Amino acid sequence: MLGLYVHVPFCSAICNYCNFNRGLFDAGLKERYVAALLTEIRQAADGSPADTIFFGGGTPSLLEPSEVAAVVGACRQSWSLTPDAEITLEANPETVTAERLAGFRAAGINRLSYGVQSFRDDELGRLSRLHSAARAVEAFGMARAAGFDNISLDLMMWLPQQTVAQWLESVEALIALAPDHASMYLLELYPNAPLRDAMARGQWSVAPEDDAAEMYLSGLDRMDKAGYVQYEISNVARPGRQSRHNLKYWTDGEWLGYGSGAHSTRAGTRWKNISATEEYISAVAAGGRVATERRPLSAEERVEEALFTGLRLNAGLDLPDVKARYGVDVWGRYGEELQPFVDQGVLVYDGRSLRLPRAGMLLAHEIMAVFIG
Ligand code: SF4
Repeated sequence: MLGLYVHVPFCSAICNYCNFNRGLFDAGLKERYVAALLTEIRQAADGSPADTIFFGGGTPSLLEPSEVAAVVGACRQSWSLTPDAEITLEANPETVTAERLAGFRAAGINRLSYGVQSFRDDELGRLSRLHSAARAVEAFGMARAAGFDNISLDLMMWLPQQTVAQWLESVEALIALAPDHASMYLLELYPNAPLRDAMARGQWSVAPEDDAAEMYLSGLDRMDKAGYVQYEISNVARPGRQSRHNLKYWTDGEWLGYGSGAHSTRAGTRWKNISATEEYISAVAAGGRVATERRPLSAEERVEEALFTGLRLNAGLDLPDVKARYGVDVWGRYGEELQPFVDQGVLVYDGRSLRLPRAGMLLAHEIMAVFIG
């Protein structure tokens, strides 16, 4: 079934490490953008079944609940949304109130994903985030009180000046809230990130790589003990609470992306919308095409992607399934190069499936490089 992604490219302030497609919030621009989104959603419709909607950003929780309701309504009119569809809104803790959360629920949102990043104020300050740890805890409580029974929290590790013990404080604080899902990412600094300058000025550094590996392994170990099940390199969930939407990206699914810079993949074709927000709005208003770079995925690309995304999942790759879908004998083609990783214990091959144990997930880039032609 299809997944629907809705991009919301507005933020109250731009975080010093962020490389997403976003800009500063402007109420007038946002109104015109939502109108364009509604038009785009209605134009592309063919009534096929869809079972997820994901509002990502940016900061989607800056939309008014009535705007979210209008977008969900347009999706319902355009596609056959299943009654149990997962409808996620990414939210920043400082943007929510009890009233707004009740409004989002009434709009059809049934899953919230909070960008918390850390439960330490010193770390949040270095990342130039607008919320405090106390505010994140409060926002979580407000969401539960509003009736959200499916909440995900994001944390980042390997932050400037962060020690392993400090990272684990955030993990413990997250566990104390008992969310239904959690994502744990390593901070990646893109080349011109303002955080790099801030780090130079403040003489902040990140821990050695061995500590980053320990952060990853010990954080996941704590999540295991708290009853969460890892299902992807950076994601854990309570049983039955995996992100259905994100699983589409990792299991060769189909999705349509609406809004500036959104990607879509359907029927073996991939395209990307115009990235600049004003340009996107003008193109929709002029009745023109917002999709650029539309191209069929080659058989080789599809196989490569299936190998990359399949190995990100704890379940790994089912090799007979890959053979049936893409006609490729993975072990026959790559076995010789993969064998040393199997010998080191960082890749598991049992004749039928190929998967990364946790220690192998730390080396995922290196192992997956084998698949690049
Ligand atoms: S809130 Fe999120 S999308 Fe917006 S600038 Fe910060 S990290 Fe980027």
